[in-house]
Formats: sequence, structure tokens, C-alpha cells
Amino acid sequence: MNLDAPKITIAIDGYSGCGKSTTAKGVARRLNYLYIDSGSMYRAVTLYFLNNNIPFDKENREMLNALEDIHITFEINPQTGLHEVVLNGERVETLIRTPKVAESVSPVSIHPPVRHAMVRLQQELGKGGGIVMDGRDIGTVVFPNAELKVFMSADVKVRALRRQAELAENGIHLSLEDILSNLENRDTIDSSRAEGPLKKAIEAREIDTSKITVEAQIDTVCHWAEEIIQMGGNPTSPDFKRTKNNV
Ligand code: C5P
Repeated sequence: MNLDAPKITIAIDGYSGCGKSTTAKGVARRLNYLYIDSGSMYRAVTLYFLNNNIPFDKENREMLNALEDIHITFEINPQTGLHEVVLNGERVETLIRTPKVAESVSPVSIHPPVRHAMVRLQQELGKGGGIVMDGRDIGTVVFPNAELKVFMSADVKVRALRRQAELAENGIHLSLEDILSNLENRDTIDSSRAEGPLKKAIEAREIDTSKITVEAQIDTVCHWAEEIIQMGGNPTSPDFKRTKNNV
């Protein structure tokens, strides 16, 4: 790999459970970039609200005070080499994957003060480039100038089956119906909220992961990234377009 190559920002957005995190992790590993799972940050806030009985049905003073007390950082897990979320000094990667958190995270993520705090932190983490971040509003709000934006989708039944297998690996056994309804509920709430809704950025390149392997998803995104890196990192520059079209 050329270490002098420009380090770009890769934003991956899409529906719940369509393989964004798996793809983003694989891409970051190959490019030697930082990977940040923005969903883990919203899940950590949700865990804090649940553990401290902070109401989140509507914006309220307790919620605003709680946000002042929430400190989210990331630490490398030595076993996987990945950055995992830390809530007020405690590693919570496993605790944020429970059905209770999955059920409450979208209602929590609606609130503008929650979103503003998370977006600020995400922008801080990504300010040097060389990052792959996945979420719902990464290409539209967090990194509107990202050199590469990807939007992922997949058939909801395929997503539910994959999520069921993933949870089972962690000892959580849920019916397909329960998982399906959680994914659909989250997609509906995430797409319809006023602040930072789940939306494809106009210039995002699309991948439907219903019928392709994880390896193929990673190959596709890495191919796009390499193309942009080789062209100097800015796909909107006239030079990039000229070289790409061989004119
Ligand atoms: O990515 P993951 O499925 O773990 O995200 C959990 C939830 O966090 C999403 O359903 C959404 O409500 C919220 N989220 C968000 N914006 C992001 C990432 C996640 O609102 N950038």
C-alpha cells in the first residue's frame, strides 16, 4: 500500500441489519483505516437512559442533564483490533446489543440534543480522514464532504435471518418475527424523524446486499475507494472526472 496516498473519508449508510458494520470493518482493515460504528454511540446513550431511568418519550430536562454526564470514548479490543465503545469508562460493547436496547434506540435517537452531541463527537473522531464510519446520517449530516459515500439496502427477510444468526452467536435467541418487527420499526422511525433521517445522499453509490457475499461487498467498496484515492481523493474535482472518463 502507498503510505503517501491521501486518506479519504468513507461514509456508509443504510437500513438496519443490511451488513453495514461487517462491510465497514472489512474495508477499514484492508485500507488500514479507523472504523467507527456510530450506531454503537446511540446504543450507549440508550443504555445510559435505561439504566438511569431517564424518560425519552419526549425531550425533557433530565435527558439534557444526562447528556452532560455521558462520556463516550473508544478503546481498542486487543483480541479483534477494533475500536469498541466505552461509556463513562466502562466497556459496553456487549451490553448495547440486547433486545431492550435495540427496542429503545430509535426512539432515543429521534431527539435533536442526542443527535447534536453524537454528531459533534463523530466529526471530531473523523477530522483527520482515514476513517470508515457507518450509520444512518453519515453521508448526509456527519461527513457531507466525504469522498466516498455508500448506501446499503437488502431484503428485510434476508436482514432478519442474518441478524438472528448473529444474535444466536452471542447467545441471544429471538424469533424471526420479533427480529423482523424490530428491524421494520427502527427503519420506519429512523427514516421519518425530522433531524438526521436515514436517507441516501444524492451522490452515494448503492449496494443491495440481498444476494451478494460479504467479501463481494468489501471488494466493491474497496474498489471504489482505491479509484478515488488514485485520482487524488476528490471525486468532484474536474481532474478526477477527466481521468475517470479518459478524456
Ligand atoms: O447501526 P445500528 O443498527 O447499531 O444502530 C442502532 C440505531 O441507532 C439505529 O436504528 C438508529 O436509530 C440509531 N442511529 C442513528 N444514526 C446513526 C447510527 C445509528 O440514528 N448514525
